[in-house]
Amino acid sequence: MRIKFKGALILTMDEKRPFIEDGCVVVEGEKIAYCGKDEAGPCDEEVDVSGDILMPGLINCHAHLAMSLFRGTAESSNLKEWLYNKVFPMEKRLTCDDVFWGTMLAIAECARGGITTVADTYFFNEAAAEAAGISGMGLVLMGADMDIEGNTQAVLEKVRRDYERYGAMGIKYIPGCHSVYTCSQRLIEGIADFACQVKSKTYIHLSETLEEVGECANEHGGLTPPQYLHKCGFFDYGGIAAHCVHVDKDDILLLKQQGVYPVHCPASNLKLGSGIAPVYSMLYHGLEVALGTDSSASNNRLDMFREMYLASVLQKGSMNRADAVSELEALRMATVNGAKALGLKTGMIKEGYDSDIIRVSAKGPDFKPKNTNVAGQLVYAASSHDVVMTMCKGKVLYEDGNFHIGIDTDRIYSECDSRINRLLKSI
Ligand SMILES: [Zn+2]
Repeated sequence: MRIKFKGALILTMDEKRPFIEDGCVVVEGEKIAYCGKDEAGPCDEEVDVSGDILMPGLINCHAHLAMSLFRGTAESSNLKEWLYNKVFPMEKRLTCDDVFWGTMLAIAECARGGITTVADTYFFNEAAAEAAGISGMGLVLMGADMDIEGNTQAVLEKVRRDYERYGAMGIKYIPGCHSVYTCSQRLIEGIADFACQVKSKTYIHLSETLEEVGECANEHGGLTPPQYLHKCGFFDYGGIAAHCVHVDKDDILLLKQQGVYPVHCPASNLKLGSGIAPVYSMLYHGLEVALGTDSSASNNRLDMFREMYLASVLQKGSMNRADAVSELEALRMATVNGAKALGLKTGMIKEGYDSDIIRVSAKGPDFKPKNTNVAGQLVYAASSHDVVMTMCKGKVLYEDGNFHIGIDTDRIYSECDSRINRLLKSI
């Protein structure tokens, strides 16, 4: 089935041709068949999107989808207080079904806000895989287990099993573990060995708080978390590192040298009081920074428009320079860089790329008067509520207020309400 979108202002994110006015995009199944100025032959369906913007679907590179269940359960707590006193006790009682429904809730929010791919990591990966399969949301699974209970061997076996199992299902799985403060050196080195065997990047939460950096230095002879991971061989095949709030220039150069993509999560870092990542410095030193929401328990939204806005203005404010992180750079983080980090052919509207496309209405007051800096309008003026269509690999998951994610949203909401009530009562 060939669908033609015509009359759009297209933000392609392709450096050779970033914008096309009054352009045409043809989608053929899971792939983009054409993007350009000209009409492209006969199609089965034509959609006139005049006055609106077509852009690549947004890539959320760090999320714990099912934690949407915990939204609003522990406001104004710092990271450790929140994790150890609230999250961990509830997680002990989580079932696979809880994770499925929490993930479906998150997928609904992602679809409405123009997100087409999520790098998710949580318990019961099978539940996330099922939710992604039912809904059509793009999913990459990341290993992020911990071994604070001494279960190192079991975690290593799980990583190997998950890598094979999800790979066989066609779902990309990136081996990893939770963080340097919740994982033993034996686990970190074991994951590094496995990644080396399968020649894969690895995944971890990195230098999220000052406390993490201090503890790492105390326990590992003065090494910062990136230096310690380097010593363990963790990033020998590159990696994806969530947060990187407290990294200095040497850490940044080391991450660059090792082919690591930092995933900036500004809203979560601010709300948990963790700090502001030195994104300007990362970009200056050539790192390709991706963007993520983290979970709705710490954020409380899965909203990449808000993350793009924060990623740009926080650097301008903290560096006292208005050109610190431009609107196009923020868009790049949410699209092209996320795709590169995850190794996917998405994040651009370009022939041969996945048909992950969103339509943003430019008809509301926040887009008026019409101005020529579309990137600026999208990052500084628009919100996720301006998204009127989200297409993921050719399937429309959300359009004009209607969800097409395989399960009715009222059912999802009521399942989540009853499940969080049970979990809260149990702690
Ligand atoms: Zn996280």
